Amino acid sequence: MAMFTNDNSAELVSLATLAVHAGREELDRLGVHAPPIDLSSTYPLGNLEQEVAALEAWMAGARQADNPIYARLFNPTVARYESALAAIECAETAVAFASGMAALHALLLATARSRHVVVQEPIYGGTSLLLAAGLAGVEATSAPPHRIPQALRPDTALVLLETPANPTAELVDIAQIVQAVAPVPVAVDSTLATPVLQRPLTLGARYVLHSATKFLGGHGDLLAGIVACSEADAQELRKIRILTGGVLSPWAAYLLHRSLPTLPLRVERAQTTAAVLAARLQGRAEVLRVSYPGLSSGDPLGLVGRQMAGPGAIVSFELKGGAAAVDRFLAALRLITVAVSLGTTDTLIQPPAAFTHHGLPPEERIRLGLRDGLLRMAVGLEDPEDLWRDLERGLEAVAS
Ligand SMILES: *Cc1c(COP(=O)(O)O)cnc(C)c1O
Repeated sequence: MAMFTNDNSAELVSLATLAVHAGREELDRLGVHAPPIDLSSTYPLGNLEQEVAALEAWMAGARQADNPIYARLFNPTVARYESALAAIECAETAVAFASGMAALHALLLATARSRHVVVQEPIYGGTSLLLAAGLAGVEATSAPPHRIPQALRPDTALVLLETPANPTAELVDIAQIVQAVAPVPVAVDSTLATPVLQRPLTLGARYVLHSATKFLGGHGDLLAGIVACSEADAQELRKIRILTGGVLSPWAAYLLHRSLPTLPLRVERAQTTAAVLAARLQGRAEVLRVSYPGLSSGDPLGLVGRQMAGPGAIVSFELKGGAAAVDRFLAALRLITVAVSLGTTDTLIQPPAAFTHHGLPPEERIRLGLRDGLLRMAVGLEDPEDLWRDLERGLEAVAS
């Protein structure tokens, strides 16, 4: 019987080439050009004694065995994508989940049950909510990046970073924090950067997490999450995935794999446009401030070019005039989509204070820099001049 495997045997070549070819290693042997989608929920069993060995291997977190047995244990379409993502993330392996939150939940269960986590602030709103829920006895302390070492306790099991951070696009020095908190392992939510712009494992992080719903999916048509890490750490994540069932659908895995070859092109194009728009926004009287790592004000630690290959495609900016200005601005847009999420082909914009972080007390929002006039824009693939005309429409509505 065929060996099913998550093996990451790709040699490191340039990112663009790897993004095209990673995860395609077994296609020749299968005699196909497009990766097949295996939709089986169950698999025929042969010699039961042998199949018991496979069952036990999966339950122990193995990445390969002779029979998938059941789709909650293994799916070859998902495994092919995991191997591809691991290759471009410079990881031994990766474990995919049904969503970014399912991936984070599994990571917390694998590392921090009944223990303590230090989490950077600000961070993705869903991450704060999950940690505040105290599931599995995980207790969390939030701290701005420079206060993270002081927040460590003897029972701290994990430090969780996010850079660029959502929704402010602030950068955190991964290598510096890894060093300051050693030997406590560091996980980096790298969703906003993608492996095109940063590879946290090469900077000493133990885990990289992505909401693959965003740039990795790239088209706004799926939910997925993935953790890239060592094979030993992946075994714990796979065991939890089998027990809790947060598996990625093979359809979504196929789409993620299909999106991978264009990931570098999409990120680079969106980033080039974002840099143009950020610079123009900064020159406008209606705008109080622009937070974008490509502006010197947005990268005080000089991490672009060192930690990150480029400033990315997320631009946060604050309008003068607070909530009323935001309302007028958003109502005037005709091209840019007012929606949460990011990393899609179309440009998305949302006001964190009025929407995603609406539930926080106002003083807490101010403390996190989420003032009423703030907008988070996730730049897409449209023509930059068309996008600028739309932003100008919004700015003119604010001024009038
Ligand atoms: C969207 C997002 C998540 C959550 O991912 P889902 O796929 O929505 O579950 C986590 N972290 C960041 C930075 C995100 O943008």
